[in-house]
Amino acid sequence: MDSQTTPKEQELDDGGRRRRDFVRGGFSLGGAIALASTASAAQKDDHRMTAARARTGGKLLVRWLGGGVTEIATPDYKQIAYGDAWIWNNAGWERFGVKKPPEYASAKGFATYVASKKPDAVFVLLTHDHGDHMGDYFEMLKALSDAGLPVKTTGQSDMMRSDLGLVPKFRKAGLEPSKIVVNGGAGMNFGGVSRHGEMVAHLIPALHSNLCCYPAAGFILDIGGVRVYLSGDTDLFGDMRLIGERYKPDLGVVCVGGGPFTMGPPDAAQASAWVGVSHAIPVHYAHNGLVLGVEAGEQYRQAASHVAPSLQVSVMKPGEQRLITV
Ligand SMILES: [Zn+2]
Repeated sequence: MDSQTTPKEQELDDGGRRRRDFVRGGFSLGGAIALASTASAAQKDDHRMTAARARTGGKLLVRWLGGGVTEIATPDYKQIAYGDAWIWNNAGWERFGVKKPPEYASAKGFATYVASKKPDAVFVLLTHDHGDHMGDYFEMLKALSDAGLPVKTTGQSDMMRSDLGLVPKFRKAGLEPSKIVVNGGAGMNFGGVSRHGEMVAHLIPALHSNLCCYPAAGFILDIGGVRVYLSGDTDLFGDMRLIGERYKPDLGVVCVGGGPFTMGPPDAAQASAWVGVSHAIPVHYAHNGLVLGVEAGEQYRQAASHVAPSLQVSVMKPGEQRLITV
């Protein structure tokens, strides 16, 4: 295919920004799917290609599962991603007065639910190893594996592949790291890429920590023709501008809980402005006594209305789902 840039693509520039030329030989408006199927391996690892893609016609469903955890899927549920893995033990539902439905209330219920979707790929993205993010991680992977589902996980490479990291825990859970972790067990490091099914993930920095050692992270995830910024737990930091410039994400899933651990609503609003997303969902609040309560979502919306007036904010309750289109 020849390089091409149509007027329509140029119209996609929101906020008056001019997106960099995005076609460098092999894909156009089809998004991640076209990228995955037509570019060579070397081309696919060229960040200029993934960075500067204009998107249109993309659709995904995102459901908040409480705390910092989300379920992100194509509308047909053939591609499903989980941003972190604290599901049935997730304590982020009670304060909203929402009862967890059976599909998120036990490992068995969850595996049955995911299997009912007959997915082509299930991708579990682990930002870091704190309990409110990986509390059900191993049991979740095992339950999905045992159900015969095409599940893979990714995260920071040394955490994934080192005996000082998660390797002993994978084995203890009955999971073979080289099979359940993408890239033959290597996961990925910053600047690296992971693929599963038609989903593509990049590891990006977060200003946070892990209990075990290695750096905490966030993700850029391409799914359904939409590019998602998953902040993970983080403070505000200046390179969020670079993340925006480099990856140009559409949807932000942004921690807003404040308290001892992460940025709160005003800084999360600034972060969203810097990464340049057009849609955002506040997460990581009301799930323990140290972070902000249910009011944090609206506080984030308020703060965003000042620093990013065109940002579409979806404040949700756990279990709610939104269709995001770009
Ligand atoms: Zn954390």
